[in-house]
Amino acid sequence: MDKKPCPFCGGTDLATPPGVAIVVCGDCGACGPTRLPHPRSDSLTILNAFTGWNERVNATEKEKSDG
Ligand SMILES: [Zn+2]
Repeated sequence: MDKKPCPFCGGTDLATPPGVAIVVCGDCGACGPTRLPHPRSDSLTILNAFTGWNERVNATEKEKSDG
């Protein structure tokens, strides 16, 4: 799936802590929004985390382009 780089530092060292649907930037420590972890599927938990992360990245980029 599409993993957007960090909107704050451009880093691509993105980590998903186990059991938590959240993305953390390994370069600057920025976090995406916390999503619900999937009870049985780590891959779906990570998918949820990156869905939230990508939404955050899109929103941040829009804020920048709006001035
Ligand atoms: Zn970062």
